[in-house]
Amino acid sequence: MKIHVKSYLTDRENFLPAVAFCVAVFGPVAFFSRRITGVGLNAFYPAAWSAFTALAAFFIFYTRRVSFYRRIFFSGLALSFLVHFKLSLLSKIFDSSCFKDTPFCHIAIASSFFNYMYQQYLALMSGDWRLWGPLSLAFAWLFFTLVIGRAWCSWACFYGGIDDGLSSLPKKALVKTGALAGKFRDFPAALLIFLLLISLAYMLPVYCLWLCPLKMTSAFLDPGDALIRKVQLGLMLFALVILLAGPLLTKKRTFCSFLCPFGAWQAFWGRLNPFRVVVDEGKCNACWECFDSCPMFAIRAGHDGKPEVSAYCNLCGECLAACPSGGLRYSVFGMKVGDVKTGFGRLLNPESFLVFSALVTGGTFGALFAPAALKDIFDILLRIATSY
Ligand code: SF4
Ligand code: SF4
Repeated sequence: MKIHVKSYLTDRENFLPAVAFCVAVFGPVAFFSRRITGVGLNAFYPAAWSAFTALAAFFIFYTRRVSFYRRIFFSGLALSFLVHFKLSLLSKIFDSSCFKDTPFCHIAIASSFFNYMYQQYLALMSGDWRLWGPLSLAFAWLFFTLVIGRAWCSWACFYGGIDDGLSSLPKKALVKTGALAGKFRDFPAALLIFLLLISLAYMLPVYCLWLCPLKMTSAFLDPGDALIRKVQLGLMLFALVILLAGPLLTKKRTFCSFLCPFGAWQAFWGRLNPFRVVVDEGKCNACWECFDSCPMFAIRAGHDGKPEVSAYCNLCGECLAACPSGGLRYSVFGMKVGDVKTGFGRLLNPESFLVFSALVTGGTFGALFAPAALKDIFDILLRIATSY
């Protein structure tokens, strides 16, 4: 896609609305980030993270390149997660305690849902209100699902940020995935059902124990049985290859498309959320550029021979940029509402509502680790500087 730098710089009609949009995103992200980080962390770090999120909002609105700037934000979120939770090796080199191990994440929550329900039932029956704390996790998930639904996987998930960022690095796919790969697109749903049942049977977070590549360096591996530990490590290594090498070879989000149970979970529950990407049949000339560009294998042939967007779409916007005839758009429940092209009216388009919701959610979620990661980096640089 050609970048018309000059026309961006002279697009005065959209400059002020973009500034307004940027401020609207900055406000809630800065407020929640400060509350989440608390007084233990210098106010500069949450403010810097909020400014980064707000800048993404500005450039998305001003340049209309949704997926390009979304990806910068999303990869930044994932990188900060890795810095804060996965560079524990550096803590030995730098004698620092700032690096933590990976906590339980939303992927584990999805596949342990039955256990969760059972625990809530026990808490309810016990009458012990102190056990009700975990209930808030379900409300947080429900809230995020209603606000951004499937967009979670392209705007807020740190796993998705790794997958997505890596898939954008190669210029061309070294390995063509073709239509065959799409046939395995339902595998994460089957994996989710399997994990739901086996997690309930063993009352354990089976995904974390057996598959999560980010848990590989932690104490989660079976301490007693060497054979089990080897199998766990083998499966985690396999997942790590799908997460890292898959996107680099195929330019597709292989982990999110074929191995993530939470992606299947959100594809199901995301129907509650109003945002959709739809094909405008009047504009589409069936060139299939969108099919090739979709990193999530979420576009398939419809009954009329034209493309159709499936429930696996996570609203990344990549296909909107790839379509040569403007045949795709963001919508609310598939309806054609608000298609203002310039000025402040654009703030009321479904695209603006989606980007606002997604960035505020992603920015707020990222505040759990991104400001701390900034401080980690600052601490390391300071140590390096003072050691010379
Ligand atoms: S259909 Fe479009 S918006 Fe949805 S995941 Fe694929 S490229 Fe992204
Ligand atoms: S890229 Fe656009 S015109 Fe081509 S098939 Fe997809 S929606 Fe239709």
